[in-house]
Amino acid sequence: MRPDIIVIGGGTVGAAIGYGLARLKQRVMLLDGGDGDYRAAQANFGLVWLQGKGIGLPAYQGLTSASVDLWREFAGEIEALCGADLAYENNGGIVFCMGEDGFENRRAQLLRLHNQWSGAEPDWEMIDRSALEKLLPKARLGKSVSGASFGRRDGHANPLRLLMALHEGIIRHGGAMRSHATVRRIERSGTDFRLLLDDGELVAPRIVIAAGLGSVALASQVGLDVPLRPQRGQVLVTERFEPFMPLPASGLRQTGEGTVMIGATQEEAGFDLSTTSDAASRLSRKTVEIMPDMAGAKLVRQWAGLRVMTPDSYPIYAQSATHPGAFVALCHSGVTLAAFHARELARSVVDGALPDFFTPFHQRRFDVPKAA
Ligand SMILES: Cc1cc2nc3c(=O)[nH]c(=O)nc-3n(C[C@H](O)[C@H](O)[C@H](O)COP(=O)(O)OP(=O)(O)OC[C@H]3O[C@@H](n4cnc5c(N)ncnc54)[C@H](O)[C@@H]3O)c2cc1C
Repeated sequence: MRPDIIVIGGGTVGAAIGYGLARLKQRVMLLDGGDGDYRAAQANFGLVWLQGKGIGLPAYQGLTSASVDLWREFAGEIEALCGADLAYENNGGIVFCMGEDGFENRRAQLLRLHNQWSGAEPDWEMIDRSALEKLLPKARLGKSVSGASFGRRDGHANPLRLLMALHEGIIRHGGAMRSHATVRRIERSGTDFRLLLDDGELVAPRIVIAAGLGSVALASQVGLDVPLRPQRGQVLVTERFEPFMPLPASGLRQTGEGTVMIGATQEEAGFDLSTTSDAASRLSRKTVEIMPDMAGAKLVRQWAGLRVMTPDSYPIYAQSATHPGAFVALCHSGVTLAAFHARELARSVVDGALPDFFTPFHQRRFDVPKAA
């Protein structure tokens, strides 16, 4: 198959774009790298989350809001196509507040975000402790929990099932996928791109670079200088419990299998995937402060993943000016944004240009004029 478009990177971002392209009848080839690569998609917490996002960049609120709106239909379509169950629920989500100061600070933060975006009705509310107890009747709250912010449009899903279903969806729509297919070089060949792999080469008129932390070296070959850094996130997982958390919280969610995920840390540790006892004790202490009964929970797993971070933490979507037909897509909330990537971003790549909506996400926002 001679592909119309090659997507480089088979994590959640590349897979969602590849799925969206295949769905639009493009001949897609998704290339994924080797076993030793950094894979944020496999460390994910599983939140499909809107509340609190976008301080300083209203366009990011709009982007996240659009994706959250698309998620139900997107999930239903993939589930029907692949016979998967993404365990997607969007009954709302909470951020616990500790003490009166914590409650007021959270309110002020969300109000600031709300004022930045529009005058529309807020899709969140602050709820006091007694309202929170009604939302979580089976969970005994710690004494310093003063309440929470409740986001009506937040939810969660199983991120690994999502990733597998996206890969499967590409195949079902007639696309192809190769793993252990690290792209070493990208060259121009007339109006095509020639991608050099360890065992041969592939040619296509369009490429999308969505290779997470591996994107820096690739994007520079098509004239796009993308500043990225790894940010480590560690997650703990407990034994299974009877359902007691009907809603996910930021940092604490019960999965469909009954385990509780706790996390994730935000650490500037470079390219270091170690798990640490310090992180485990910090996360455990915080959890027990919120829900004292978790003190007896057995931890069954701990892992670390590296987030794909830009300097302002917001995504980069760009098309190369020097190499038309080469796109880059990088972000750190790949599950939340999966629906948008599969729909709107894939459509724009097929159209051959990113519309104005994407302008605030171009990496030129990081260009600093050189000092004279
Ligand atoms: C601890 C943690 C918790 C998170 N929680 C959430 C959450 O709750 N909700 C949410 O929305 N997001 C969350 N995220 C973020 C989410 O996981 C990432 O946004 C997403 O997985 C990034 O996906 P990606 O596809 O860009 O990168 P990755 O998953 O890192 O994938 C990049 C892929 O590119 C491939 N690659 C690299 N170089 C090459 C090359 N040269 N040739 C071919 N292939 C290459 C690699 O093999 C890899 O598979 C979390 C991340 C972490 C670390």
